[in-house]
Amino acid sequence: MSVSGFWSRSYDVCTVCGKTEFPYKAKGMCKHCYNRAEETRSRARGYRAKHPEVFTKRTEQIHFRHRFGDEKKREEVIKLYGERCVDCGISREEKIQKSGHDLNVMHTDLNLNNNEIENLRPICRSCQAARIHKLRDKNITLQKQRLQNRPGKK
Ligand SMILES: [Zn+2]
Ligand SMILES: [Zn+2]
Repeated sequence: MSVSGFWSRSYDVCTVCGKTEFPYKAKGMCKHCYNRAEETRSRARGYRAKHPEVFTKRTEQIHFRHRFGDEKKREEVIKLYGERCVDCGISREEKIQKSGHDLNVMHTDLNLNNNEIENLRPICRSCQAARIHKLRDKNITLQKQRLQNRPGKK
């Protein structure tokens, strides 16, 4: 139990359980909550690997709603770049087979309203996450705002 209120470098308490009972692990979580989250993640990974069709369909629907108003343009962008991730070059087919996720279409300027074709690139989830991570310091991501709004963050 932290008496000084100093639990981790950036968090006062665990962002999941709101306590300091267990030592800090990673991503704003205590050891206990992190391990539980990791279990859930690995179960989800197993499920996705077994049922890629189901999951790909669902993520496509999510993209359609949240990222992209235009499913036709999404396909157009992916085809334009040879159905490959622009960063690591993994093919669409391979990515779906490996992880159950279709390629994302990313707004390179991170402005979700700028749907000009020059602003869009097909990218796999891991490369997109890496890009967002890199940009986090530059004060221009939505992700950053979300992270700052987590409970327990100083
Ligand atoms: Zn916790
Ligand atoms: Zn990639």
